[in-house]
Amino acid sequence: DHRFSVVPTAPPDAILGLTDAFNADTNPNKMNLSVGVYKDATGQTPVLQSVKAAEQKLLSNEKTKGYLSIGGLQDYCDHVRTLAFGDQVPAERVAVLQTPGGTGALRVAADFLKTQLPGAKVWIPTPTWDNHRAIFDAALLPNDGYRYLAADRTSLDLDAMVADLREKASPGDTVLLHGCCHNPTGIDPTAEQWKVIADVIAERRLLPLIDFAYQGFGDGLEADAVGLRTVMDRVDEAMVCTSFSKNFGLYSERVGAVSLVAAQASEAAAANSQLKRMVRTNYSNPPRHGGAIVATILSDPELTAIWKSELDTMRNRITQLRQQFVETMKTTGAGHDFSFLLPQKGMFSYSGLTPMQVDELKQKYGIYIVGSGRINVAGMSESNMQSLCDAVASVLE
Ligand code: PLP
Repeated sequence: DHRFSVVPTAPPDAILGLTDAFNADTNPNKMNLSVGVYKDATGQTPVLQSVKAAEQKLLSNEKTKGYLSIGGLQDYCDHVRTLAFGDQVPAERVAVLQTPGGTGALRVAADFLKTQLPGAKVWIPTPTWDNHRAIFDAALLPNDGYRYLAADRTSLDLDAMVADLREKASPGDTVLLHGCCHNPTGIDPTAEQWKVIADVIAERRLLPLIDFAYQGFGDGLEADAVGLRTVMDRVDEAMVCTSFSKNFGLYSERVGAVSLVAAQASEAAAANSQLKRMVRTNYSNPPRHGGAIVATILSDPELTAIWKSELDTMRNRITQLRQQFVETMKTTGAGHDFSFLLPQKGMFSYSGLTPMQVDELKQKYGIYIVGSGRINVAGMSESNMQSLCDAVASVLE
């Protein structure tokens, strides 16, 4: 008998599994609005010009493929800190480690919380990116949901969120926040709401764990850091998980970072040593290439300017597609106003489509949307907008 015969097949990843189905679909007009990658007008996920230029530089200047240190490239980590915190927090109170993507950062953070803070528990928004719970479960880190999305599914229920953080979370617990461009809803707190959230976090002595995967995709690099910085105004301890997958288009290069802010430099140094231990027994040290690209761009004013304008282009395109979708839906005569999508941030939106409507879109039109009704706006295009809206109108009837 076979020892592996006892191993059951795991369910496919809800979102990546949809892409497999999409790839197998023979409908010539199929559209993938599920997976979270940016696409340009030609349907490609392009390599940014700034990235190409940085790679050219690296190719001619790179001296070694020797291991990086456990925490990664130092100048990369300095840039990560500046992008997130500006000069709000002194460098000696921040430990930053380069990680394989935002996912790697979350896993290192989870391992750290589980092993270093006795009784650690994380509160995550409902809904949130599915992998949050899966990562925390994998790290055996207890987690539970706080309310986030209002019953209308188009706005934040701040009162419920605050009530849960105040009444359910215990002092010392960790609270996961999306720095901007909440995935899957696209619904972010306003600047005023961030102040209320920051106050509760401070008052309840909660540890903020900020997932920062879309900086620059909402309102701009600095504007998207407002929530994080509002929280940092009120607390002196926090963790941040950065991803550069989206804002540098470096998805497959696995570029991220985990940052820990301590109240004192000595505590940051001790935490840093523990974070390194987590890394050492997991993937040992991060991959060089993606981090070197980001460091090359951010250390060069010209490349930085090019990158910023490319980021602006991606953000503006998403905003335009959002507007175009809302406008085009009005012309279909479906009588369903999608204006609630307009203030939403980033690539994702909750469309309000039901699982049955989502299924009909897939079966009849080859349009792939996550079962929750989450739409990747960046998967739309000017050329398919009319047929998309006609299809959506038909399933709404
Ligand atoms: N956090 C959120 C909310 C995300 O949506 C993603 C990617 O989809 C990540 C983290 C992780 O990104 P990556 O590991 O690809 O850098």
